[in-house]
Amino acid sequence: MAYDFDLYVIGAGSGGVRAARFAAGFGAKVAVAESRYLGGTCVNVGCVPKKLLVYGAHYAEDFEQASGFGWSLGEASFDWATLIANKDREINRLNGIYRNLLVNSGVTLHEGHARLTGPNEVEINGQRFTAKNILIATGGWPQIPEIPGHEHAIGSNEAFFLKELPKRVLVVGGGYIAVEFAGIFHGLGAQTSLLYRGDLFLRGFDGAVRKHLQEELIKRGLDLQFNADIARIDKQADGSLKATLKDGRVLEADCVFYATGRRPMLDNLGLEHTGVKLDKRGFVEVDELYQTAEPSILAIGDVIGRVQLTPVALAEGMAVARRLFKPERYRPVDYAMIPTAVFSLPNIGTVGLSEEQARADGHNVQIFESRFRPMKLTLTECQERTLMKLVVDADTDKVLGCHMVGPDAGEIVQGLAIALKAGATKQHFDETIGVHPTAAEEFVTMRTPVAD
Ligand code: FAD
Ligand code: NDP
Repeated sequence: MAYDFDLYVIGAGSGGVRAARFAAGFGAKVAVAESRYLGGTCVNVGCVPKKLLVYGAHYAEDFEQASGFGWSLGEASFDWATLIANKDREINRLNGIYRNLLVNSGVTLHEGHARLTGPNEVEINGQRFTAKNILIATGGWPQIPEIPGHEHAIGSNEAFFLKELPKRVLVVGGGYIAVEFAGIFHGLGAQTSLLYRGDLFLRGFDGAVRKHLQEELIKRGLDLQFNADIARIDKQADGSLKATLKDGRVLEADCVFYATGRRPMLDNLGLEHTGVKLDKRGFVEVDELYQTAEPSILAIGDVIGRVQLTPVALAEGMAVARRLFKPERYRPVDYAMIPTAVFSLPNIGTVGLSEEQARADGHNVQIFESRFRPMKLTLTECQERTLMKLVVDADTDKVLGCHMVGPDAGEIVQGLAIALKAGATKQHFDETIGVHPTAAEEFVTMRTPVAD
């Protein structure tokens, strides 16, 4: 049968654009549908605008520290509307770049909501198109628990477009987004509390990292409330919000921001017209080749709920394009040693196993740790400390994990990830000459393991 397209991609986000562009580059006839914004979550309401707001929030401490270096500034003031307008302008520019990338690589762009009408058919804007392969790359959406009054809360999508910086914010959750946005709101001057339902936030990260970040955030004056969760939210006559916690306490705020995970975006996607199956958590179920239960349909990125990070969606998109249209260049995505950063203030950078994971996996673990005051702060009042930690297998000398809390941790850990991917041992780290004076050199100068 002759199809309209070799590949029809639903969703022009990180994974979809990558798959579409490369498939077209390999000679396939490709279309991509996008209902909302080119570039998807990362470009519009994720990584990019988030990082811009983090940069914005960082200025507060830069101004504070400048006097130690002899600078005197007038009273600093911050204008949220300027930051948001400039951020929007930059995102518009990126949207245009994404459009050009797609069009210039020969991909047909359909703007509108796409719905599957069969295993090889998509409907968009009242028109139907057939395709040999269909790729679901529809991403995710913030998930807010349906407590009474949840409609008064916002999620990350709305936070990027608030008209004003709220004076008092309650951030609910203890994952990436909660910790990053708590830092943004606090840094920009809002009175911010982070409420997390468990004992300590950032479950799954190394224990020392979680504890260190907790201490640093407390030093900065961020109100951290663990074992705290909201039971209901009520809007008051003056427009402010009253949050009643499960333990009966009542907190007042101008904004309640939920960052409690993301669900797969499958709204009105027409999966019922196909054999696509969902896994227990509701994400699209795929095999190791991103093949769904329907042979002509594949899925990648956040919608499969494996690792919800942009570079992972990109790698999955590339793998699909290669396997379908350039099989001789196909290489499976390696999910081991994925580096990641939390752009909290200070940042977390991490790659490989946490100490807890390494022990649970049965490794005979040696830990190297360094805590120090960064050189840049020695002329200032700021008492922030950096943490660096190596998790080493004592039997093989292999470095299993590198963890850092401190300025530029995300930048530093990217290079370390290459070393770990290449199987670096502690001896390799020891034999590497440092770059002086940097914080990063600490990673190659830790000599004495921490006593068990
Ligand atoms: P998306 O980028 O979400 O793209 C899906 C696209 O599909 C969207 O454009 C959507 O509009 C479109 N779509 C959905 N349904 C349809 C339909 N039926 N028809 C047509 N189009 C449709 N990751 C990092 O690596 N680093 C970070 O710093 C980072 N920060 C983040 C901050 C926030 C606040 C959030 C929310 C996420 C962040 N992420 C970060 C995660 C990252 O954004 C996602 O992992 C990544 O965008 C997933 O890519 P994707 O292609 O799977 O989906
Ligand atoms: P996460 O899965 O990271 O964290 C969700 C948090 O919400 C957890 O602390 C979880 O608690 C808590 N939670 C879940 N359900 C409830 C509930 N019903 N009530 C109260 N608390 C709840 O999700 P995020 O929304 O922070 O981010 C989504 C994903 O986006 C991340 O996992 C990450 O992959 C990606 N991302 C990456 C970034 C980066 O690379 N820098 C930045 C932002 C997002 P518990 O731990 O107890 O389950």
